[in-house]
Amino acid sequence: MHEATSVLFGLDGFRVIDVERVDDDLVRVVVETIDQHGACPGCGQVSSRVKQRPLVRIKDLPAGDGRVDLWWRKRRLVCANPQCGRGSFTEAMLQIPPRSRLTNRLRAKVASAIAASNRAVAEVAGEYRIAWHTAHRALIAAAGRWLPEPAPTAVLGIDETRARSVRWILEAQRWRRSDPWMTSFVDADTSRPGILLGLAPGRSGACVSSWLAEQTHTFRQAIRTVVIDPSAPYASGIRAALPGVRIAVDHWHLVRLANDMVTEVRQRVSRERHGRRGRKTDPAWAHRRMLLTAGDRLSRRQLHRLQRVLLADDPTDEIGAAWGCKELLRQLLAEHDPARIRQRLWRFYTACADADMPETSRLASTIETWWPHILVALTEQVTNARTEGYNRTIKQVKRVACGFRNMDNYRRRIMAHIAVTRPRLQTA
Ligand SMILES: [Zn+2]
Repeated sequence: MHEATSVLFGLDGFRVIDVERVDDDLVRVVVETIDQHGACPGCGQVSSRVKQRPLVRIKDLPAGDGRVDLWWRKRRLVCANPQCGRGSFTEAMLQIPPRSRLTNRLRAKVASAIAASNRAVAEVAGEYRIAWHTAHRALIAAAGRWLPEPAPTAVLGIDETRARSVRWILEAQRWRRSDPWMTSFVDADTSRPGILLGLAPGRSGACVSSWLAEQTHTFRQAIRTVVIDPSAPYASGIRAALPGVRIAVDHWHLVRLANDMVTEVRQRVSRERHGRRGRKTDPAWAHRRMLLTAGDRLSRRQLHRLQRVLLADDPTDEIGAAWGCKELLRQLLAEHDPARIRQRLWRFYTACADADMPETSRLASTIETWWPHILVALTEQVTNARTEGYNRTIKQVKRVACGFRNMDNYRRRIMAHIAVTRPRLQTA
């Protein structure tokens, strides 16, 4: 066989000894190793005495637009060392690991095809004509290499995502409710590219503390601040695993709580006035989105319209009061200076007390409960905003991975997808 054929075929350490076109899209290739020597895995003695030359079928990448039917003329070598009980051994190659029927280059290709384009395992397995479990194992092996241990960070962000709907799984003759939630761990240090460090099934304190326990001592030691949403289980999980760190509560979730409060008041006012839910003809319902928009982002005209809406549809001024409390909270959460923070906090509490409604009181009480941690977030200017980007990725993977019964597979899948597409995410 011509040397060029082997170069073209490009399988490291192998030489092509025969090529035969079977039909229009199938080529049969036979290879052997260039090095005729092999070291006995039992004693290390090198041998070139051939005992047998079995022909082994190997799966490899397609060539051009055709399929390749690859065969390896393997050598079974004799170990001549009388002290070694091995007798004989087969060649082992980097490209084709022992007992493997797949080249490593095919394995790598399959893994990155699944992870990078976020395709279903079955679809990629079909394209490369390998079994589903082989493709899946290739992905797992590659994901381990793509994902190095998380690099230490001073600011760790923790957030929850709903991975999928609740389902019941029959396990050892008992129904078990599967937890549809996942917790993501993100490098929230804003001076560095935000990186998803890990995912853990569930959203309990135990899921946080056990993920932290799996990390290196160096990783845990480096953490100064952990940013979370106002979740008591998360806070207790962090206190258990990292007693010394500061917990910061992200303002993003607090704004969401304030918006939910405005909506609750609007719905209650509508029920009390009309004895029914809001509808198109109610000005407050028609402008419900405007009620939730940040006040400083509304134009003068929009603010006037909001005033007219409240005049017409809010005779008791309850929606207006709720809107005011929400806006004061937003202003408070935008402050970083301690003196101004104190001033804004006092104004917010006063407005909630004056509003004297169950909804505003509940919001004020939540803020009071979490205040020490909210203050950490404001003065240190830390946020979990970047986790939101990852939540989108997770949801995107979820759509493809709907067949995943096992949370571990699912988690690996998301991490692999992010590892492969990370450069794109960072610039996004
Ligand atoms: Zn030996």
